[in-house]
Amino acid sequence: MSDLSHFQPLDAGAIPRFAGASTFMRLPAASPGGVDIALVGVPFDGGTTNRTGPRHGPREIRNQSSLCRRVHHVSLTSPFDLLRVADCGDSPVNPVDKEESLAAITGFFEQIRDAGAVPLTAGGDHLITLPVLRGLHKGSPRALIHFDAHTDTYDEIFGTKYNHGTPFRRAVEEGLLDPERMIQIGLRGAISHGTNYDWARDVGIRLVFIEELRKRGLADVMAEAKALVGADETYVSFDIDVIDPAYAPGTGTPEIGGITSFEAQSLVRMLSGVNIVGADVVEVSPPLDPSGITALTGATMMFELLCVMAEGMAAKKAD
Ligand code: MN
Ligand code: MN
Repeated sequence: MSDLSHFQPLDAGAIPRFAGASTFMRLPAASPGGVDIALVGVPFDGGTTNRTGPRHGPREIRNQSSLCRRVHHVSLTSPFDLLRVADCGDSPVNPVDKEESLAAITGFFEQIRDAGAVPLTAGGDHLITLPVLRGLHKGSPRALIHFDAHTDTYDEIFGTKYNHGTPFRRAVEEGLLDPERMIQIGLRGAISHGTNYDWARDVGIRLVFIEELRKRGLADVMAEAKALVGADETYVSFDIDVIDPAYAPGTGTPEIGGITSFEAQSLVRMLSGVNIVGADVVEVSPPLDPSGITALTGATMMFELLCVMAEGMAAKKAD
């Protein structure tokens, strides 16, 4: 366990939370080799179709994550006592070239995969999940648990197949995800055409609208999600707009009638036991978030994800 001493957050009793270099959860910066969970950023929002700004997400989530402490108050998990966790920096991007950015992000996550680390990513808009999945791909499609107000399974928007409304359709087409082991939770909002959900339903994706989530309750839906993915390798994608904009207003395509931040935390805690091979928190847009509450929410959701990932990975290591 001694090597964990190199992967500890700054001691808040010695260096106050407003001081020091801004890294995720005040962790050391490191390369992914020798790290179990790599906290990384993808500062790209060239896939946004409306209000922009998530390119600034990683930096502001790092800033707000200075408030993340060591021990989860319910599970009493301390991820930093279980595994080597570090800030492995930002993916390279080209803010004015989407194709180049997709290739660069893919390459960055290939390096993380080949180093044997599991990434927990701060976006970026939701398009970034596509090159993340490409980079992490190991030959067979993964399962997906996806929290979002939107399915992000359009075929195209503005004549382009690559934007933040299409990543999960592309990921299915490319064999990165298995649609019959995909569940999308928290869906809502008016749609452009009554046929917008047809493709997702036709390929077998499980769509859980907010009304069903409310009616059945969080635990029942999460039990279904966990039964669907079983012990399979599962990616978890968390779009901050699944949370009601009353709690998380700083995002590009807000939809009212969402879950509370407490419910979001509860949902993620119920991922305990899922075989998570990567996760992200996307669509935090600091320019639309003057109080910083949305970035703080994003940072806290990353800590919640980190705790369930660390518990699962540590248990697997101990086997
Ligand atoms: Mn999304
Ligand atoms: Mn969304």
